[in-house]
Amino acid sequence: HAGRPVALEARRLVKDFRGFRATNEVDLPIFEGEIHAIIGPNGAGKTTLFNLLSGFLKPTSGEVHLFGERIDTLEPYQIVRRGLSRSFQISSVFPTLTVLDNVLVALQSPTALPGQFWTPLSRLRALTPQAEAILEDVGLGSAHTRLAADLSHGEKRQLEIGISMTQNPRVLLLDEPTSGMGSEGIHRVIALVRQVARGRTVVLVEHNMSVVSELADHITVLQYGSVLATGSYDEVRRDPRVIEAYLGE
Ligand code: ADP
Repeated sequence: HAGRPVALEARRLVKDFRGFRATNEVDLPIFEGEIHAIIGPNGAGKTTLFNLLSGFLKPTSGEVHLFGERIDTLEPYQIVRRGLSRSFQISSVFPTLTVLDNVLVALQSPTALPGQFWTPLSRLRALTPQAEAILEDVGLGSAHTRLAADLSHGEKRQLEIGISMTQNPRVLLLDEPTSGMGSEGIHRVIALVRQVARGRTVVLVEHNMSVVSELADHITVLQYGSVLATGSYDEVRRDPRVIEAYLGE
């Protein structure tokens, strides 16, 4: 990381849920331009950490900084405007709209958060070329007129990533982008993440270790809400504490 600026940083981050500590004094620098995977056994606190980083949860204590600015005091839409965008495991896709219209709606929204829908579609048509370019990027170039409801699971995940891309984020958080996919879909998502990672920082929560090994420059392993290990794939994979944590799952 020598000399690379920190894009996103958790500082002594703590989240308690009624006395249960889901995030325990997490210090986590994410360097600009890297693909950083957060892994760990079920219940380790990955989703909670993601929600803290993107402002969907307020920390009990500690801070989150984005390009040096403190953001844990801001609302999610303000964080999106500062260049951090996330995909949702709970789908942000409108099933009754076409693929193209889903991207158009997200393009006009200042935040691309689910459920925000202000401008009539007729007025969004001017954004069509921009929407088409995004769909091309996420591999849905020939799916414009299909209803989102008719997409395969994998194609819906591609569309969700496209929706996150409408904000042209400098930092993109992806929550289990390969969940529920077969091997063909997984290969498509790996290529897609590589593509969207060009020129930006990507943080992903991912269960599939072969995906992690292919994509991640840096890995942080969580256990019981704490950072258990951090390093390259080869470093963490050989760490006896990591091996033990996974054998115990
Ligand atoms: P992971 O994503 O690694 O599976 P989570 O972040 O979802 O882990 O959960 C970490 C721990 O925090 C779990 O024990 C979970 O039950 C608990 N937890 C998560 N969200 C809440 C909540 N809103 N209220 C109470 N406990 C929660």
